[in-house]
Amino acid sequence: MAREHVLGGTAEAVVQTGPGVFTRMVFDVPHIGDDEALVAVEACGICGTDAETFTGGIPLQYPVIPGHEPVGRITAIGDRAAARWRVQVGDRVVLQSDIGCGRCVGCLRGDLCVVDPGTLGFIPTTRAPSLWGGYSEVLYLPPGAMPHRIADHVPARTAALYNALGAGFAWAVEAPGLRYGDSVAVLGSGQRGLASVVAARAAGASFIAVTGLGSRDAHKLALAADLGADLVIDVEQDDVVERVRGATDGEGVDVVVDTTPHATTPVLDALRLARQGGTVVLGGLKGRGNGVPGFPVDDVAMRRLRIVGVRAVDYRSFRNAVRLLERAPTFLERMHTHHFSLDAAAEAVRTLTDPSAGAIAITIEPGN
Ligand SMILES: [Zn+2]
Ligand SMILES: [Zn+2]
Repeated sequence: MAREHVLGGTAEAVVQTGPGVFTRMVFDVPHIGDDEALVAVEACGICGTDAETFTGGIPLQYPVIPGHEPVGRITAIGDRAAARWRVQVGDRVVLQSDIGCGRCVGCLRGDLCVVDPGTLGFIPTTRAPSLWGGYSEVLYLPPGAMPHRIADHVPARTAALYNALGAGFAWAVEAPGLRYGDSVAVLGSGQRGLASVVAARAAGASFIAVTGLGSRDAHKLALAADLGADLVIDVEQDDVVERVRGATDGEGVDVVVDTTPHATTPVLDALRLARQGGTVVLGGLKGRGNGVPGFPVDDVAMRRLRIVGVRAVDYRSFRNAVRLLERAPTFLERMHTHHFSLDAAAEAVRTLTDPSAGAIAITIEPGN
């Protein structure tokens, strides 16, 4: 038997029907089964992916409710789902973006599902029950969803940082196997770069350098220092390799995380920044099929560098992001800069990519 709260029967959502086109639509709220749940969305974080899907840079199956970083409260949940996820009606939860069957080899490996893979915000509304994205008053949780309960003292707006912070733990800590005392260089000071600084600091890094473009990222570089970076490098003014080597007795760092999109020069910088035997994490996507001109194969071999690719965020990294948000919400909330109502979803996405807006993390909030 599923327990259910009455929600009024319908939910308003923002639906993307084509590149650059958002419209408001109303959907029926479904009745749920034993393995499912419903969430009243309080806030949905947006990131560079939202900006690229909005313009059509990342193609979508339309019509679709975007939003893969939702925070909300459970309003209805089946008994089996409640037992499996250890959440109850009224709990505030954050959602892992990727959903799957939970039982196939892909899911059991902690990888993408090979049977029924999906990502919140990417499943068309033509698939029942339509409410698959966070730009909505109500989100449907299928059996393969993975909610994490987050304590009530973390405001929904701050909790929405979980996705970026999860990536920080996945990319800067789990993927490279960061250990206490390691030195780290983070290339790029967007949400994921800043989150990598936070995660590396939380995991006990002894030294963290971070890079950015002074002309457009000044506010992000200033925040990086507040969040725990020891060395902030404006790549338009300074030679990154020289600065990092100078700060590490000429040796380089244990771990380099490249979070920069598009440009391939940072990959070459990353290889030069790593100490002998160090690890380079490649997180920033450069465009399908794009290689790195001048990739120094022999140097990688001779210096025994380890190169690790990363994509999704694993369960453990999401859990660590939630724990850190519960422990230090006030410290972390300064990463959040703007919030918008559901009506202003397009403005929210545009603000994220407007260099003059000073944006870092932005939320769309259906209740406002
Ligand atoms: Zn995202
Ligand atoms: Zn699966």
